[in-house]
Formats: sequence, C-alpha cells, structure tokens
Amino acid sequence: MTEQRPVILAIDDQPEVLSAVQRDLRARYSDDYRILGTTDGQEAIATIDELALRGTPLALIVADQRMPGVTGVDVLRSSLDKFPAAKKTLLTAYADTDAAIDAINEVGLDYYIMKPWDPPEDKLYPILDDLLVEWQAAYRPTYTGIRVISQEWSRQAFELKAFLARNQIPYRSMLLEKDAEANQLMEAAGADLSQLPLVLFPEGEPLTNPSTEILAQRVGLQSHARADAYDVAIVGAGPAGLAAAVYGASEGLKTLLIEASAPGGQAGQSTLIENYLGFPKGISGADLTRRAYSQATRLGAEILVPARVERVERKDPYRIVHLADGTSITAKAMVVTSGVEYRQLQAEGLEELKGAGVYYGTSNIEANYHRDQPMFVIGGGNSAGQASLFLTRFTDSVTIIIRGDSLDSTMSRYLIDNIEANDSVSVLPRSQVAGAHGGTHLESIVLRNLDTDEQTETKAGAIFIFIGQKAQTDWISDLVQLDERGFVLSGPNLGPLKNWNVDRDPFPLETSVPGVFVAGDVRHDSIRRVAGATGEGSTAIRFVHQHLASL
Ligand SMILES: Cc1cc2nc3c(=O)[nH]c(=O)nc-3n(C[C@H](O)[C@H](O)[C@H](O)COP(=O)(O)OP(=O)(O)OC[C@H]3O[C@@H](n4cnc5c(N)ncnc54)[C@H](O)[C@@H]3O)c2cc1C
Repeated sequence: MTEQRPVILAIDDQPEVLSAVQRDLRARYSDDYRILGTTDGQEAIATIDELALRGTPLALIVADQRMPGVTGVDVLRSSLDKFPAAKKTLLTAYADTDAAIDAINEVGLDYYIMKPWDPPEDKLYPILDDLLVEWQAAYRPTYTGIRVISQEWSRQAFELKAFLARNQIPYRSMLLEKDAEANQLMEAAGADLSQLPLVLFPEGEPLTNPSTEILAQRVGLQSHARADAYDVAIVGAGPAGLAAAVYGASEGLKTLLIEASAPGGQAGQSTLIENYLGFPKGISGADLTRRAYSQATRLGAEILVPARVERVERKDPYRIVHLADGTSITAKAMVVTSGVEYRQLQAEGLEELKGAGVYYGTSNIEANYHRDQPMFVIGGGNSAGQASLFLTRFTDSVTIIIRGDSLDSTMSRYLIDNIEANDSVSVLPRSQVAGAHGGTHLESIVLRNLDTDEQTETKAGAIFIFIGQKAQTDWISDLVQLDERGFVLSGPNLGPLKNWNVDRDPFPLETSVPGVFVAGDVRHDSIRRVAGATGEGSTAIRFVHQHLASL
C-alpha cells in the first residue's frame, strides 16, 4: 500500500538550503507528515501532479521564490486546481518581498518566510504549526482506492465498473461531465479522451481502457491455474459451484473452481434472497457470495476469475479442460455448474443502448445511475418482482411490463402482495417493448399494446430485462447429453448411453460422461433456487468421491 500520510513539499534550487529546510521540517513534522523535497521547480510541479494522481493529500508547500526558470509562485500556482486547500508559503529574501505580496493576491499565498529562519523554534515552527492546524481542520481525507474515470455513458466504463462491483472490489466512479477533479486527474495522467476509461490505483501506473482480464490481473484476481492437474474441476462459481468447491476442498480433494465473470452467478445479482435457510431477514446475493467465496478459499479451493472454459476433451480417465486464454488443465472429475444467463430481448435500438439505460439484471450501480427517473422492468417472474421492489429505493416510478394479463401465474404470492402494497410500482399487462430510443443513453421506449397493436412512446430512464433464461452449455454441448432446451441431462433422465466405459450405472447428478457431474440451474429439471443449487453442488461431491474410488 502506498504511504498515505499527508505531504509537505519543499523546493529550493540551492541544495544546501533545501537540505536545511528538510532537516527542520523533519525534526518537527515527520511523525504526521511525509517530507518531500526537490531542487527543481519543474520536478516539484510533476510531484504535485503525481500526488493528485495517487490521491495522496498535500498539506503544505514551502517554495523558494527565486529559482531559475520556474519560480516559487509558478509551483504554488500549479497546485491550485489539484490541492486548493494546501497551505502555500514562499521562502523569500528581502528583495523578493514585492513578489511575495503579489503572490498573496495571485495564488492565495498563506505566508512568506524570510530567509534565514533560524532559530526555527521562533521563526518557522509557529507559522507552520498554525497553517497545519488550519489545514487539518479543513481536511477531508480523499478517496485513495481504485478510481474509474470516464465519460458519463461509456459502455466500456460500465463493463469495467460492473466487473469490479460483481467481484466486490471497491472503486470510485468519476465522470468527466460531473466532476472537475476527474478532468484534472485525466490531465495529470497525461491521458486524453481517446484513452478513457482511465483506471487509477493507489500505487503503480494507471491503466487506459483496459480489458477486464488486464484489470483483473492488476487488482490481484487469479485467472491462471497454479497446477496442471486436479482431482475435481468445477465450472461456474454460482451457489452450486461454490458449494461444490467448499465440500470438495474440505473433504481433501484438490479442487479448482473456474469462473468466467464473477463469483456468485445469478445469486450474486439478487438484492435480497429471502428464502434461503438460516437468514430470517434475508441475505443479499453479494453478502452470501462473499461468505461462500472466503469459505471455499479458506478450505483450500483454488478459484480462477475471470477464466472461461471453452471446451472439454475426454481422454479417459481424465478430462482436459480448455480455457479461453489457451491454457488447459487436467481433472479426474468435473462438476458442471455453469447455470443460466438472461435471454436477450430483441427490439430495435436495445443492443446499442446496453449498459446505458438498457440492462439485464440489476444492481445498486445501475439503479443509482438512474435515480429519480422512470424505470421499467420487463418480465413477470420472481426476479422481475424482486428487482421492481428494489428499484423503488431509487425512484417512485417503476412499471412492470408483462405480456400476460397479470402476475398471478408467474410470480410468487409474497412478491405480488408486496408489489400491490407499494405505490411506486405499477403493472402494465398485455404489453411489450417494441423499441428503444436515445443518443448517448436511453431516453424513451416504444410500448406495443398486444390487444390493439397500438404503439406509444414514453420517457424512460432505464429498463431492466428479465425475460427468461438460457442454459450456459455451449462449451460442453459436444461432450454431454442435453435436453431439447440445452440443459444438461443426468442420472435417471439420461437417454441411451454411448461410450459409457465404466462398470456401473450413472450416479444421480452424473452426466452421460463418467466422472462429469452437473448441479444447479444448468441441470435439466432443476428447481432454480439457491438452496437447490447449493444442495446439488455439495451432493455432487459425494458422487465425485465414489467415482474417484472406482478409477
Ligand atoms: C435477480 C435474481 C434474483 C434471485 N433471487 C432468488 C431468491 O430470492 N431465492 C432463490 O432461491 N433463488 C433466487 N434466484 C435464483 C438463484 O440465484 C439461482 O437459482 C442460482 O444462482 C443458481 O445457481 P447456479 O450455481 O446453478 O448457477 P448461476 O448462479 O447461474 O451461476 C453460474 C456461473 O457459471 C459461470 N459460467 C457460465 N459458463 C461458464 C464457463 N464456460 N466457464 C466458466 N464459468 C462459467 C457464470 O458466469 C456464473 O457465474 C434469483 C436469480 C436472479 C437472477
């Protein structure tokens, strides 16, 4: 971690004077402040830029006025926009008094100190003590974590921020249009608009328009396996995969969990899971994920994020798992827990506005972006119901758009009751979205009435789409048997088996390939609940043991 004590910066072109100032400053202030010094005015300006870039507070500048090229006043002027609250002093000779007085008006000089300042106890410390007390009183610590600087509706920035949020990595979003500091930081980093989004870190170089993989590496996520071979490889870190990893690792299996996007899967996007056993007030998906993730790693599972499995090759008795980055690992057994993803809604203009008002799923970030604007939820299932209630924390206008007559046959009663009791949510039946309009971001949607075919355009801040889900099985479709909708068949549901080369019947949760198991929403006939997924993930490990024992 970078040193975040506030800085006192001293500048004097004469090395012996600089070391005397630094010596005196250190003697009194080094417990609470970091003392930096330079003999070069240009370098001082660069240091000020660098401190701003890193979010390190600058408390005080002590600058010699008379320096070749860049003067003390020039240095103080350069700090004005980045550190308006920093205290500014000039070291002056008698002949510089006029320049110092001018500087009071020009740069808000706080004090000019006549050289020499001996003894410092009389001529230096009383002045600086006062200035630093004043600075401390006004100082509000700046945010020094990861900062993402972008234009307001940047899709790349949306993806980076969603990635950080889903992986529970704190960051601050700074928009050029709304935050003067964002402009200064972009300038200080020497970046221009074409290099945005810009990601700043407390230490090390900023990243310009990074991919999620580069960002992941930088924030310390592990996306490459440490070993070549594992007892069990689990694909997908939703509740099913996390449960399998906890049980696998705790029962002594060398366990690798591979996640393409962020741990938690769909559950990670749930704002409040109310029906998971043991949490009477409900638990947010993010909280549940954090707990499961640390439990799995503490027990010894290795978790790769982001790492996408592209295909699996059968080399009996091993399974070779090929990852999108070109690497591969060998596993004696596998658990498929790749879940489902939202179906995409097809209507004119939606694709272009994805991430800028059009969203699949919802979280604090998107909801906050559109605070106090009219929001629409498309779909009538439980996740749509949960999302619409969540959105009422941000706006008093949420409309659920459904094709059917009512929510009765698609949503749980407790959610319908809550929706009916909430004045901020209304339901628009027999309707669908026919199009979306907007420039940099969504401005309106076109609604079609399914009975009359009449179309109306209405102002919209954001739409959140929940229109059903599709199994994530492209990566394994040429290996295991799937049902007609793409879900993985297992145990008693399997059709006639080809290449079944072990001397036993498939275990429950075992696919058409020996040693490859399936758990959670991606399984044919699953109940699509967190509890179901965690139950199946842990149960699959029991069968993994039995399979390994039979090898
Ligand atoms: C908004 C919302 C609210 C919900 N609320 C509730 C609730 O209140 N109560 C409840 O019981 N259930 C709820 N559910 C349902 C519940 O979240 C799911 O049943 C559960 O998450 C399924 O878990 P899973 O592990 O099977 O799959 P998922 O959660 O879908 O996770 C699958 C994971 O696999 C990863 N993956 C996919 N393909 C690959 C690949 N090729 N390589 C690597 N990784 C891959 C994905 O990125 C994903 O992280 C909710 C769902 C949603 C969307």
